[in-house]
Amino acid sequence: MKLASVILDIPTQALDAPYTYAVPVDDGEGDLSIEVGCAVLVPFGGRRAIGFVIGIGEHAEGDWPEGLDPAKLKGIVRAVSRPYFDEEGAACARWLSERYIAPLSSCVRLFTPPGGVPRMVRAREGYWRLEEPAVGEVDDRWVVPGPALAQFEPRKNAVKQASIVAAVRRGELRVAELAAEFGAVSGPLKTLEKQGVVRIEHRRRMRGMQPGEPLSEQAGGFTPSPKPPLTSGQAKALAAIDAARQRAAGEVVLVDGVTGSGKTEVYLQAIEAALDAGRTACVLVPEISLTPQTVGRFRGRFGDTVAVMHSRMSQGERFDQWDFIRSGQARVVVGARSALFTPLTNLGLIVIDEEHEGSYKQDSAPRYHARDVAVWMARRAGAAVVLGSATPSIETLYACAKDPTWHQVALPERANGKPLPEVRVVDMAKEFSAGSRSMFSGALSRALAEELSAGRKAVLLLNQRGFAKFLLCRECGFVPECPSCSTSLTYHERGNFLICHHCGYRVPAPSVCPECGSPYLKKFGAGTQRVEADLRVLLDETPGVGPDVPIVRMDADTTSGKGAHQRLLEEFAAADAAVLLGTQMIAKGLDFEDVTLVGVINADTMLKLPDYRAAERTFDLIEQVAGRAGRAELPGRVLVQTYEADAAPIRAAAAYDRALFLRDELPKRRLLGYPPYVSLANVLVWGKDEPEVRRVASGLQDELEKAVRDFGGEGWSVLPATPCVLAKLRGTYRWHIVVKAPIHADISSVLLPLFRHRKPEKDVNVAVDVDPDDLL
Ligand code: ADP
Ligand code: ZN
Ligand code: ZN
Repeated sequence: MKLASVILDIPTQALDAPYTYAVPVDDGEGDLSIEVGCAVLVPFGGRRAIGFVIGIGEHAEGDWPEGLDPAKLKGIVRAVSRPYFDEEGAACARWLSERYIAPLSSCVRLFTPPGGVPRMVRAREGYWRLEEPAVGEVDDRWVVPGPALAQFEPRKNAVKQASIVAAVRRGELRVAELAAEFGAVSGPLKTLEKQGVVRIEHRRRMRGMQPGEPLSEQAGGFTPSPKPPLTSGQAKALAAIDAARQRAAGEVVLVDGVTGSGKTEVYLQAIEAALDAGRTACVLVPEISLTPQTVGRFRGRFGDTVAVMHSRMSQGERFDQWDFIRSGQARVVVGARSALFTPLTNLGLIVIDEEHEGSYKQDSAPRYHARDVAVWMARRAGAAVVLGSATPSIETLYACAKDPTWHQVALPERANGKPLPEVRVVDMAKEFSAGSRSMFSGALSRALAEELSAGRKAVLLLNQRGFAKFLLCRECGFVPECPSCSTSLTYHERGNFLICHHCGYRVPAPSVCPECGSPYLKKFGAGTQRVEADLRVLLDETPGVGPDVPIVRMDADTTSGKGAHQRLLEEFAAADAAVLLGTQMIAKGLDFEDVTLVGVINADTMLKLPDYRAAERTFDLIEQVAGRAGRAELPGRVLVQTYEADAAPIRAAAAYDRALFLRDELPKRRLLGYPPYVSLANVLVWGKDEPEVRRVASGLQDELEKAVRDFGGEGWSVLPATPCVLAKLRGTYRWHIVVKAPIHADISSVLLPLFRHRKPEKDVNVAVDVDPDDLL
């Protein structure tokens, strides 16, 4: 007898387990066959529910899976979809759920098509019905020549027929086009179809793709974009990737290349080699860099075999792309992190561009890291992984140093031979003591005046992860820190106190600087709008600049609408002199030839975030944004304003000196016990009722301590439950418990049994974040 493991499609907090159902011999009521990856209808608790088949096995009578009572075994009613994933997808979902301690249903859901799956909806009391997803295929009706077209002579008075026939003789076209030109055409079309003059064909329309002929069928065929001769660094990187791919063992190649060193060209040629070997490729790009230009570089080389997948596309567009991938016609997928789970088969290469980006970590269940999933998939598929960045993550650098299957290739120079722009650090504490109260230093104001009045462009970065407030002395730059954790203390408005989010240390907020006695203690966190207003005043007053020079502001507010991001970038590109002012989102992938000045308004705000990755993020951000200047003929310059001119991440970034940064950072990570020296799991507890949240958190802490004592051992620790840095978010109170384990320990398998057996609380949520990207 065939038995299926089925994961019910019911959102759950608890770690769910598959249910066993019998597979009917004739596949049940429907026309679709029951296979791994299908959505199926199953009886469940007196009603019917949707589930996904994640395994099918043959069982002899009596050889039942453990714990199965054959008397209670129920059968699958029928399949309600074709398979969404295969055995490999099912294995990946299981692995994700164990590795990231997440409900299996949430993991399986990653593999289902955009626009949803069939679901059961309650129609009225006690009655449920099956609802198909609203998003599906759309067809266009095309009018194409029929066998009788050549000889056909329309009757004199059949004017519309004559017009249609004339149009179709010029080439096939859509019914909608005919209707637009000649009005109602369905009558005459029917007549013509009956006589064999035309045929009506239903053809799949791909939403979001240019209508018309596919690129590969255009006159003369598709011409791939020209390949430049590779620099010697690029050639070495390509050779390393090809070799890793041919060893088919899931090896990783880090392309450690400065901004503008031509990493994308390396990816393109490595993908081409994978395609030539009959394999496919998946390219992950941070969501924000998935611009038409980026996609264009891949389509320009590989034509319409490229599928694209990101969240700014409509559901219909994504559904069509997903289906295009499933059809096997797509050979290259370019997308955000979730593109990993599209039905691309025969994977030879996974490329992760800007691999240091925080957006590769999902912040809801399953909290996976795309880099780690990619490595798992590549091992299984006999593929290779390419990681690219100008600022690789410390974890990746560490793996390259320690793990023989991780390789590092450096591209230390820009592909066009131009030097990296010079970076100057401006000490804002000095500006302040010299009497300046402006957020723009003298040096930055002068540089803006020079560049803008000469018709060139500037990019200004407001470094802002606007939530964690901290105190800063505007006179001496002092920021209160925790005496035992060497991270800055977070300022809490309510109660006017400072707290350490690592150990719970708490003091009243001082009214004067404890270091120099100055009363100018500022609560930090200025918004982009405020900066824009001040900048407008500055530009208007600057001779040779004035009110005609536009400021394009890019932040969460101005980019929320569909296509807004792209529109703002186009506006900036089209202007002569202009300033692009924005948050972190402008640091990535912008390639404007005429940007000659990059300014960082406040390089250190992130440095003050009470998080172990704060220094690394600051270093990355300055390095990345500096790379936006002087990309073409004109030389660029970079001004970094900071109250922490001596901080290692800032000095190191200004000198393009990663070794200097690591020499400062790594000993701290080792001493305080953070990655890459330990593994972390962050157990999050949240809910509306603060005392309840606190109670659950402290109970969990006891359970975690026990689990770690019993199954962990030396090098394991559980930190006390504390409120998160983001202690209250949208009315929800958040607490967390950090678990640390030796770097090679399997932290998930020690914590998994605890969370498997835990009963979910009614009003308090609990989730585990394994390998958290931050502890905020
Ligand atoms: P990165 O991704 O490393 O920031 P890009 O791939 O965007 O760099 O390349 C920067 C610029 O250099 C692009 O305009 C690209 O077309 C060009 N480029 C890349 N490789 C070469 C090469 N071998 N010779 C000349 N130009 C190149
Ligand atoms: Zn502390
Ligand atoms: Zn001070």
